[in-house]
Amino acid sequence: MTDQNSISFQANGAPYSTHFNDIYFDTKSGCQQSELVFIKSNNIYQRLLTEKNSFTIAETGFGTGLNFLLTLQTYHQVITELKNSEENAYLPALSFISVEKYPLSKAQLIQSLAIWPELAYYANLLTSQYPGKPEKKCLLNFFDGQVKLQLIFDDAADALTKLKAPKTGIIDAWFLDGFSPAKNPDMWSESLFEQIARLSKEQATLGTFTVAGFVRRQLYAIGFRVEKRAIDCDKKEMLYAKYQHNKKSGNGYQLRPLITKPQHVSIIGGGIASACAAYALTKQGIKVTLYCKDNKVAQGASSNAIGALFPLIHQQRDDISAFYEHAFWHAKSLYQSLLDQGFHFSHDWCGLLEVSYKETLQKRQKAFEQLAQWPKALIHSIDNDGASKAANLKLNYGGLFMPNAGWIAPQELVEQLFKAASLTNRLRIENNVAITHLEQKADKSWRLHSVRETFKATVVVVCGGADSIKLNIINQLPLTSVRGQVTRMSSNKTINKLSTVICHKGYLTPAHRDQHCIGATFDKNSFNIESSIEDDRFNLAMLEKCLPNLTDWQEQDIAGSKARLRCSTPDHLPMVGIMPDIAAHKPTYAHLAKDKNWRFYQSPPSIDNLYVITGLGARGLCSAPLLADILTAELSGTPYPVDNKMLFNLSPNRFVIRDIIKRKFDS
Ligand code: SAM
Repeated sequence: MTDQNSISFQANGAPYSTHFNDIYFDTKSGCQQSELVFIKSNNIYQRLLTEKNSFTIAETGFGTGLNFLLTLQTYHQVITELKNSEENAYLPALSFISVEKYPLSKAQLIQSLAIWPELAYYANLLTSQYPGKPEKKCLLNFFDGQVKLQLIFDDAADALTKLKAPKTGIIDAWFLDGFSPAKNPDMWSESLFEQIARLSKEQATLGTFTVAGFVRRQLYAIGFRVEKRAIDCDKKEMLYAKYQHNKKSGNGYQLRPLITKPQHVSIIGGGIASACAAYALTKQGIKVTLYCKDNKVAQGASSNAIGALFPLIHQQRDDISAFYEHAFWHAKSLYQSLLDQGFHFSHDWCGLLEVSYKETLQKRQKAFEQLAQWPKALIHSIDNDGASKAANLKLNYGGLFMPNAGWIAPQELVEQLFKAASLTNRLRIENNVAITHLEQKADKSWRLHSVRETFKATVVVVCGGADSIKLNIINQLPLTSVRGQVTRMSSNKTINKLSTVICHKGYLTPAHRDQHCIGATFDKNSFNIESSIEDDRFNLAMLEKCLPNLTDWQEQDIAGSKARLRCSTPDHLPMVGIMPDIAAHKPTYAHLAKDKNWRFYQSPPSIDNLYVITGLGARGLCSAPLLADILTAELSGTPYPVDNKMLFNLSPNRFVIRDIIKRKFDS
C-alpha cells in the first residue's frame, strides 16, 4: 500500500508525486488556493461558529496535511472569536476524516510542511503525533480532544465504503483533493460518488479544484447542486457543490425540478422582485426580456418615496423569522455591493426602532431580552434613553432596535438594479406591455399575450405582484391583494431631527428631501390605487394614537400620498419556484391525508417552464434579493442559498400539500 518512494522534492522544496506526475501544492500560492477551495467555499469558519452539534469534514487525499492544518487554524480562530463574543457561545467538536492511499513518511511530512512557516504551530501539533510508520489507520487529538483527526491509509472509495453512517449521513463538508481525474482516474470512480451520496448529510457542501465535466455530472446525478466558481489565483476555477437534491429523502414533494440552464428568460413585472431577478439572472449569463405594463419600471408597490429595510423577527427562531433574518443580510449585502460598485440610490442605514408603545409590546420586549435568541447586530432591546438616543428625539418608550436596518428609496433602487443588469448587455425591457394571458404550446414553450401583441418565450418568471393575481394559471395560487396608502408629510423643526425609522402600529421615516413617510393602511382584497384623504387621516391618527405629541402634524402638512397594492400569501412568507400543477398534486400525494409522514419519492407535478416570485407583501425590499438568488440557482442547477426546509417554506406548492394533509379535498 505505502509507496513513499514515489515522492520527491523539487528544488524549491515542493513535494512532488512521481507516481501521479503532479505537485502536492504550489509553493507560492498553495496555501491561499487551499484556503479558498476548501475552507472558504465550504464556509467552515461561519459554520463552526454557528453549529449547534458536532461538525464532520471528510477529505480524499491527506497528502501533506495542508488542508487539515488550515482547518485546525480556522478552528483555533473560532475558539478565539467565541472567547471574545458576548453572545451565548457553543464550540462544536470537529471530526476530520481523511483517507490517503500513498501516505508520506513522517520525515517527508515534516519536510513538506516546513514550506509554510505561518502554519508552523499547527504543523508541530500534527507532526508530533503523526505515526512513524503510517499503517491502516490512526486517531489524533487536538485542542483537548475537541478536534479529532481520523487518518485512514487506504483507497478513498474502499475506506469510505467501510465507514458506518445512519441514513441521514455523517459528513457536513467534503474536501475532494486527490489529484485531477486526468492524472488519477482511479480515485474518481463511480463507487467514490456513491459513497459521497451515502455519507453526506442533507446540505453537505463540497469543494474541489477539479472542474472536469464528468465530476460535475456525477455530483449532479447523486443529488448535489453544482457551481463552477472563478477563483482569484493560479488555478482560476474550482467546483462548489451542495447536497440538496436527495431523491431518497422520502420528501418527494419538496424536490425541485432539475433542468438545463436556459439561455433566455422572460420576466413579467417591473418592481423590486423583477429587478432583483433580472440582476441575478443576467449576472449568471442568462439573457432576460422584461415585460413591464407601465411606461417606466417601478410604478407599482416599488414606487413609494421611501421604504424601510428591516427583517420580520419574532421572539422565537421560527421559520418566518429565520427566513427574514437570512433575507435581510442577503439584501443588505446586495444593496451595499451596488453602492460599492458606484450605483447610487437614496438610502440611510440609520437603524429601525420597534417602539414598545403599549403594555403588550413592553411584555414582548422583556420576552425578547429573556429569550436572547438573536444576535445584537440584528435586534436588541433598548430602554427609553437608548431609544431617544437612537431617534435623536425624546421618546417615552423603549423598544427593540435593529441597528443595521434603515430606509431606501425603492424606485431609485429598482432603476439602479435594472441599470446594473443592462450593463451585462443581457437585459431588454419592453415597456407598456401588459401581459394578459399565458398560453403553453405543445413543446412546453410559452406565448405571452398582451392586448396588442403576442411574444414567444421559453422560460417565464411571473413577478408581477398584485397585478398577476388574476393572470390565468397563476390565479390558482392563494394570493391576496392588500391595498396600502402611504402619506408623505412635510418636515418641520419638531420632527426633522428624527434619525431612525420608527415602527409603531404603522411607521414613520426620517426626513428625506424635507419629507417623511407615514403609513400604511391595510385593505385586504382591494385593487383600488386611487389615494384618499380618509386614508391620510387614518395614517395621521394612527401615528398620534401610538406616539402622542411626537409630531405636531395637521392635515395641511400632508405633502402627498400614494396607494399601491401588496401581494400577500396566507402564511406571510413569499413564494419562489416552479408553478405547481395543483390539480395533479391532489391524486399524486393523496396518501398524505391519511399519513402526513408517508414517504414519497415522486417529484412534484409542475407546469414546465413557468416560475413565480410572488407574495412579497410589504417586505419586498428585504426578501427580493434572496428570492431572486433562489430562482437563479433553481434555473442554473447551482446550490441554493437556503436549506431544503426553508426552500419548501417558500415553495409555491406548499399550500396544496398542507391542504392535502389537512384533508381539505374529498378523496
Ligand atoms: N490534501 C493534500 C494536502 O493538503 O497536502 C494534497 C493532496 S494531493 C493533491 C493528492 C493526494 O491524494 C495524494 O496524497 C495522493 O497520494 C492521494 N491519493 C491519490 N489517489 C488516492 C486514492 N485512490 N485514495 C486515497 N488517496 C489517494
